[in-house]
Amino acid sequence: MGKVNVIFPKNYNFNGIKPKLSIDVNGTPVAATIIRSTFTPDGAHLVLDVPAGVDLDDFARFMSQDGARAYRRALVTVDESGCIQCGQCTAACAYEALTLDADFKLVVNQGNCVGCRTCVDTCPRQCITVY
Ligand code: SF4
Ligand code: SF4
Repeated sequence: MGKVNVIFPKNYNFNGIKPKLSIDVNGTPVAATIIRSTFTPDGAHLVLDVPAGVDLDDFARFMSQDGARAYRRALVTVDESGCIQCGQCTAACAYEALTLDADFKLVVNQGNCVGCRTCVDTCPRQCITVY
């Protein structure tokens, strides 16, 4: 099994998608389980559990259709306009996905994020989003 994050655009047609999401990957139907879903005015973000034996890169590639974008890693984003560079998230992140540079500017190391959401709970300004 593996986790894939998918961002769907606004007005995406979700007919028949829940609670399982089934797509063809290299000609084989794969049913992924939705383990988290967040809907916003800008679209939707789903976290999918993909069955063992399925190539996650292939799954992400086939999932990235009709405006949807799929990622194997979690996506952490920071609203810089709200960030006060307090460093609490960098101290809380055990994966060095959030660090401060020499000028104490927050740096997001996207590839390190595992989606644990500890930073979201830690930020006093609620400016971190994890998909
Ligand atoms: S979700 Fe977890 S791994 Fe990702 S940046 Fe936040 S604390 Fe770090
Ligand atoms: S905890 Fe929030 S306000 Fe503080 S550095 Fe991190 S993102 Fe910025």
